[in-house]
Amino acid sequence: MDKKVRVRFAPSPTGYMHVGNFRTALYTYLFAKKTGGEFLLRIEDTDKNRFVENSIENIITLLEWSGLIYSEGVFVNPKSKISNSKQNPNSEMTNSTSYPDLVEIGNFGPYIQSERLDSYKEYAQKLIENGTAYYCFCTEQDLEAMRNEQIANKQAPMYNRSCLKLSTEEIQQKIAAGEKYVIRQKINTEGFTKYTDLIRGEIEFKNELLDDQILMKSDGYPTYNFANVVDDHLMSISHVLRGEEYVSSTPKYIQLYQNFGWDVPEFAHLPLLLNPDKTKLSKRQGDVAVEDYIKKGYLKEAIINFVVLLGWNIGDGSTQEVFSLAELEQVFDLKRVHKAGAVFDLKKLDWLNAQYIKKLSVDELYEKSLEFFAQKDFYNNAAPDVKTETYLKKVLQIEQERLNNLSEVGENNQFFFAPIAYDKVMLNWKDMLPEALQESLQKSIETLSGIAEENWELKNIEEKLFAVAGDKKGDLLWPLRVALSGAQKSPSPMELAWVLGKTESLQRLQNALER
Ligand code: GLU
Repeated sequence: MDKKVRVRFAPSPTGYMHVGNFRTALYTYLFAKKTGGEFLLRIEDTDKNRFVENSIENIITLLEWSGLIYSEGVFVNPKSKISNSKQNPNSEMTNSTSYPDLVEIGNFGPYIQSERLDSYKEYAQKLIENGTAYYCFCTEQDLEAMRNEQIANKQAPMYNRSCLKLSTEEIQQKIAAGEKYVIRQKINTEGFTKYTDLIRGEIEFKNELLDDQILMKSDGYPTYNFANVVDDHLMSISHVLRGEEYVSSTPKYIQLYQNFGWDVPEFAHLPLLLNPDKTKLSKRQGDVAVEDYIKKGYLKEAIINFVVLLGWNIGDGSTQEVFSLAELEQVFDLKRVHKAGAVFDLKKLDWLNAQYIKKLSVDELYEKSLEFFAQKDFYNNAAPDVKTETYLKKVLQIEQERLNNLSEVGENNQFFFAPIAYDKVMLNWKDMLPEALQESLQKSIETLSGIAEENWELKNIEEKLFAVAGDKKGDLLWPLRVALSGAQKSPSPMELAWVLGKTESLQRLQNALER
């Protein structure tokens, strides 16, 4: 019988949520959904130097926001001040011993690595006893000298095993004398380590090229390289999904599983994310944090959809690219994850976001846009009557089809919010004579005046204006556009009039006429 699928997302609390990490979370979640497996959250906080305050809470909030629901692992304490959690199964919670705002749920805890230090010590000891790990007392200076010598001899820098020669007595003396030490893995250097990656197929490494990596650091903390193996085993993880950067370490992990006599989980290494110039995705070429994209007004649905396409497609001759999370839960398949690096194409994100913005109701769009209006000076300085719900909804209705992201709201149509100024020659359509321009503006004024307030609907405005414009539409509509917007590019003059309302439209036309 196949082993029950249990998968984990195991981020390190180092600040923001990198898009690559979010993709790992998403694929892992989708794989669990598709296979009916369990998805859990483990926190890998053993690198104290990289720890950033509040990042665990941030990770949890982001997973919750995105709908990547897990039922086991680390959660925000529903009783804490920072909780806005909807995601709380009613099972038993244990308070985290190191983070007052966090709780843990599940039978395989603790799920925070800094709370599992005893376990790592115990298992490292087992390896020392069975001869597959050893104490190393080399200092930074020793290691530095070793590296320099190897480089000078054109050898690959790796630990030279000098501490492997120490006798049991020597080791005991050093420990008793309080010398600092680490524990290293004793690699089996014979032959090859092979595994079948679920994405990359057969992978084989020559064991003599593997370094005796550190398992336990001198501060009593495990390295990631050790903790991930111990935890994945103790938490009964069946499949490990993580980034390509771990491909070359995996043989060492496999040897650790073998040294313990444990089953080796399945591995799936996800492709690198690349900048458009095919270099590894970096902060230098743009934002890499999911939070940044949320702040810029990308919708959750678009972000998820964009991220899932970074290394996966539905295949089978289908060109479908727009997927909801619910749909992905049905169709996602690890077999269709690519080996080749995935290019981070922001045009695609814009396109997807525009698709999802179009699908919003005006009410939804309004709700989501308010915080973005509030970030703009033109909005904050505007008169109260253009900040009303009704008015903003009209603006949004006009803009909806054209928005790539919510932070663009109002941006290109600031004339809806502020008095306009323009050079009066702009009013002229082609080589219009002054009399013709006057006549045109008059015609607009008469037509719009003739529409009663209660009939001030876009369709109505369009019908009436088109009726009087006849064949020479430009003669009527161009001056009207400029009079209402002060701009050469804008929504249609009818849309402008509709949003601005009768009074303001007539006022702006009157101003144009006077000029
Ligand atoms: N803590 C590791 C990281 O954030 C997790 C890698 C893994 O999934 O094993 O990169």
